Amino acid sequence: MSAKNHHTFVFPDDSRWDDARQAWNLAADLRPAVVVLPTSVDDVVAAVHYAEERDLRIVVQGTGHGAAVHASLEGTLLLNMRELRGVEIDVENRRARVEAGVLWEDVVTPATEHGLTALHGSSPNVGVVGYSLGGGIGWMARKHGLAADSVLAVELVTADGALVRADRTQNTDLFWALRGGGGGLGVVVAMEIALYAVEELVAGMLIWPWEESTRVLTRYVEWAESAPESISTSARLIQFPPLPEIPEEIRGRRLVVIDGAVLGTGDEANEILAPLRELGPEIDTFATVPALSLVRLHMDPEPPVPGIGDGVLVDTLDADAVAAMVDVAGPGSDSPLVVVELRQLGGALRSRKPGGGALGALEGSFALFAIGVPMGPGMTEAIEGRIDALKRALAPWSRGKPYLNFAEKRVSIGDAIGGEAFARLEGIKASVDPDGRFRSGHRFAAGAGSIEEAAQAA
Ligand SMILES: Cc1cc2nc3c(=O)[nH]c(=O)nc-3n(C[C@H](O)[C@H](O)[C@H](O)COP(=O)(O)OP(=O)(O)OC[C@H]3O[C@@H](n4cnc5c(N)ncnc54)[C@H](O)[C@@H]3O)c2cc1C
Repeated sequence: MSAKNHHTFVFPDDSRWDDARQAWNLAADLRPAVVVLPTSVDDVVAAVHYAEERDLRIVVQGTGHGAAVHASLEGTLLLNMRELRGVEIDVENRRARVEAGVLWEDVVTPATEHGLTALHGSSPNVGVVGYSLGGGIGWMARKHGLAADSVLAVELVTADGALVRADRTQNTDLFWALRGGGGGLGVVVAMEIALYAVEELVAGMLIWPWEESTRVLTRYVEWAESAPESISTSARLIQFPPLPEIPEEIRGRRLVVIDGAVLGTGDEANEILAPLRELGPEIDTFATVPALSLVRLHMDPEPPVPGIGDGVLVDTLDADAVAAMVDVAGPGSDSPLVVVELRQLGGALRSRKPGGGALGALEGSFALFAIGVPMGPGMTEAIEGRIDALKRALAPWSRGKPYLNFAEKRVSIGDAIGGEAFARLEGIKASVDPDGRFRSGHRFAAGAGSIEEAAQAA
């Protein structure tokens, strides 16, 4: 096949090059050998054969929200799936089929027209596929678990160019591996996901000036341990930039923000939230809202931005842990981090469901995530240094385990899913991608000597 004549192939001399290689995270400067923008499964198969003929590695991208992990894409074909945006909703069976470029908002919006919703995360324009491959924790996670475990089927193009379906009855090993193992097994061209019958729920934010960080977070971490699984929350230290798109009351301010959602009635939510409200928030927006409003609850940035972030799972936190965190990233710290977040875990996230996937559960009480926006000289080093300092400060309360979706530095998939699961995953990788053609964002390794490293060295 002559790729030069094929419109889906974009090479560095093409006027479309910079647009085609652009990731959502503008801090990721991806420089692959070629970018392919497939508009069909046949285009994907052609790209896989092209990579095989020229011995290129393949990296797959939906949106590039997780692109910071790709250090160099030399000798790599980047498959950018953004054109594949088809969504089909099966109302009766409460499931949706989404193509590889579908953003969460693309599926949640039509689903909510039928009183249904999906296990999306905090951003409307993160990709369903990348999110679900890494696990996926959203506003219903403590009740319904990881998004990965609500995946019902995956359609995958493998290294030999075959299109296979993996679900509970066929290619079951592959189906297990694709739910939380982070990808790197082939090109997901579509997924079927479960939908949940939720028309309304109680959601909102509680906001205090960040001088209150220690008081608020100390109560929060204690409250979070015993909160029922009907509520999923996040607590953040935020330094909002003075941007016009940010609501006036919080624009340019430093705040401590707790937001979340309760699957229950207003009365139930009031009872659950009472200990946090006792702290007298300056702003309290919790109210009964339509399910669709959850996709923007967290106020995540939507247009592409540069971000340097990273995270780690942490165990039960106490007042000393909060003091350590505030010392590094709160009032008086001169921190360059715009957000330091604790995502509440526990509930359904704590234990593996029968029939669950490669990740299955998240050990720990919170997923810590911190991010800065490198806007000037020296900022990258300052942000990276502060994130490392934060992780060190919380090390006594952490086993250092990464959560793949919040790890923006390349980590070992084995460290994220555990040794036993990784051994099984490695066997599946060897059978489905024997030459190590596919690179996941994270390292397909439990340590040195992985298939991927061996293939790259060869
Ligand atoms: C603003 C923001 C908010 C976020 N909120 C949440 C949240 O609430 N909960 C949560 O769990 N995570 C969250 N994340 C993390 C997010 O889930 C990860 O960054 C995820 O990897 C993004 O998936 P993507 O497809 O959008 O990004 P991409 O960078 O395109 O994909 C990430 C990785 O997924 C794999 N992949 C993607 N598509 C395919 C495919 N078609 N076939 C094979 N492999 C593929 C690749 O290995 C790729 O490197 C957030 C991230 C950001 C930046």
